[in-house]
Amino acid sequence: MKLILLGAPGAGKGTVAKQLTKLDGSIQISTGDILRGAVHAGTDLGKEAKGYMDRGDLVPDSLIMGIMEGRLQEDDCKGGFLLDGFPRTIPQAEELTTLLEKLNIKLDMVVDIDVPRDVIFDRLCTRRTCENPDCQAIYNVKSNPTKVDGICDKCGSPAVQRADETEKAIGHRLDTYNEKTAPLAGFYEKKGLLKTITGTSSDVVVAGIQKELGN
Ligand code: ADP
Repeated sequence: MKLILLGAPGAGKGTVAKQLTKLDGSIQISTGDILRGAVHAGTDLGKEAKGYMDRGDLVPDSLIMGIMEGRLQEDDCKGGFLLDGFPRTIPQAEELTTLLEKLNIKLDMVVDIDVPRDVIFDRLCTRRTCENPDCQAIYNVKSNPTKVDGICDKCGSPAVQRADETEKAIGHRLDTYNEKTAPLAGFYEKKGLLKTITGTSSDVVVAGIQKELGN
């Protein structure tokens, strides 16, 4: 499948994407994971992106398009991909449309995962992320804690609160989402690609997506 997953930070895009990859071998492409990996590795890209990310601001469109133009042409995308956290602005969506036309790739669907803001706020404040860039497993201190406090079950690296998961940065990320990313729903609705799925459980959202895809 070739899907875009829309939804506010904390809506569960990453969790849903990971479940979907198990169904048919499509890969998850998360611009947030790619950027955090670059920050951790201290590359030029990471150095440029870090300040924006820590404040909860979007990184410039040109940086993201530079990453995605190369990423979508890698071999592992041929079996399908789930775009998680991209596009995030109307200019990114417009450039993606042109890029996909150039690469002769047709999207199946754009899924908007709709979760109430209070649920999201609570989730993000209690989320913990493995800081190993090759793992980035997600936990939640209330609903899915690590077995040993602060240590990733999968790889043993520290599982920490992200720099952009303070209350202030979360509020800012949600405002940025409403202003810059929420309009993408209308953009894809006009193209006849949008499906909105309401649900706070990833299993329900995954089942909804499978139904829409006719599986
Ligand atoms: P979340 O969806 O939980 O906010 P992500 O991991 O998708 O988090 O992204 C973390 C940060 O990375 C964003 O706040 C932003 O600074 C940056 N980022 C990720 N994807 C994009 C994008 N497509 N455009 C601009 N900035 C992005």
